[in-house]
Amino acid sequence: MEKQAFLDDVAAKNPAQSEFLQAVHEVVESVWDVYQSNPRFKEAKILERMVEPERVLMFRVPWTNDKGEVQVNRGYRIEFNSAIGPYKGGLRFHPSVTLSILKFLGFEQIFKNSLTTLPMGGGKGGSDFNPKGKSDNEIMRFCQSFMSELFRHIGPNTDVPAGDIGVGGREVGYLYGMYKKLRNEFTGVLTGKGLNWGGSLIRPEATGFGTVYFADEMLKTKNESFAGKTVAISGFGNVAWGAVQKVNELGGKVVTLSGPDGYIYDEDGISGDKIDYMLEMRASNRDVVEDYAEEYDVPFYEGRHPWEVKCDIALPCATENELNEKDAQNLVDNGCLCVTEGANMPCTPEAIKILQRNKILYAPGKAANAGGVATSGLEMSQNSLRFNWSREEVDEKLHQIMKNIHEQCVRYGKDGDYVDYVKGANVAGFMKVANAMLDQGVV
Ligand code: GLU
Repeated sequence: MEKQAFLDDVAAKNPAQSEFLQAVHEVVESVWDVYQSNPRFKEAKILERMVEPERVLMFRVPWTNDKGEVQVNRGYRIEFNSAIGPYKGGLRFHPSVTLSILKFLGFEQIFKNSLTTLPMGGGKGGSDFNPKGKSDNEIMRFCQSFMSELFRHIGPNTDVPAGDIGVGGREVGYLYGMYKKLRNEFTGVLTGKGLNWGGSLIRPEATGFGTVYFADEMLKTKNESFAGKTVAISGFGNVAWGAVQKVNELGGKVVTLSGPDGYIYDEDGISGDKIDYMLEMRASNRDVVEDYAEEYDVPFYEGRHPWEVKCDIALPCATENELNEKDAQNLVDNGCLCVTEGANMPCTPEAIKILQRNKILYAPGKAANAGGVATSGLEMSQNSLRFNWSREEVDEKLHQIMKNIHEQCVRYGKDGDYVDYVKGANVAGFMKVANAMLDQGVV
């Protein structure tokens, strides 16, 4: 089958799933030659099977708001691929959540988890529930209702959810409490747990730390580093928070944060107490970054993206398709060296083309933001051992994993003096899963 015919077939089977098709398209473009040159993969229809989730769960989530009114949301869990380990991936609570969004995230997770070198399959889930403006009690009741269906499908050796946008330590706590009550079992069924009940040190910071460790490896290939560099970051949630900390540690200066409302520009750099203030912004459930501008008296640009500021390094840490063609051109024109994705698929395909054509260092989220799920894998190991590693031990393992992912990307993506990290990540991630599927027969 020709590549275009394959893609047309996937598109016909998945109408109105543009984000999922975007993610499939990118992987297929990278791995097609490897796929074609391996008759065993083709005979076993590995790629045809890989784009089909093993199981999709979709369920009703009824709950009652503080006024006593009944609300109904939709819950999902995509159990995409379990060839190399239990399904693993976060839960997203956001009004933009659809089947397409979660299938794209679940598909990406297969390759990301494979790159971590840890035994984790790919999964993702969530709901169109909007946490914005909700009280703590409403969030608890929603999480309890969500878990009262999800509990029968997951388990520490089956499917291990975690956080993503809108799901942090508080939500994981409520979800875990309900799981434990229904199953009467204290197990490592979720990651991102609190430190007193099975969580891992460094897990909250891990995605952002990992992204900066990865960017640092990319910079090293050009004899560069974060020291003295100006860094533009988008988002203000969990990933951005970890990234800001690590950039500061490595001597860089972060000048932007963004939210759905626009972005702030802090010329003096976001450091010290300002980093703690990011946690307050998230806990407020207001979902706006303008509060930072008021608190620290810095400019706020409503409805705009931070990619128009002059920076050496850009770390998109907010959400999918948040950096478009025009943004990419702005970054190139302003002399940006390196774009490393902390979020999942934040650059549009057109933006990626511009960055790669201009030979800017560019790495996709499935490689660069894998530190979060990798540390979830370390949390699972600690739960199985019934033991906790120290902060230094976890951080060292995370750092080593990010270096290893970088090496895999270079090995499969080197093209003359340029590294195509998209190709490197996709091919390296694909090979391990494809070989495992081959070993396990047609299932
Ligand atoms: N949601 C995160 C991701 O996109 C983490 C998933 C996990 O820890 O399972 O990789």
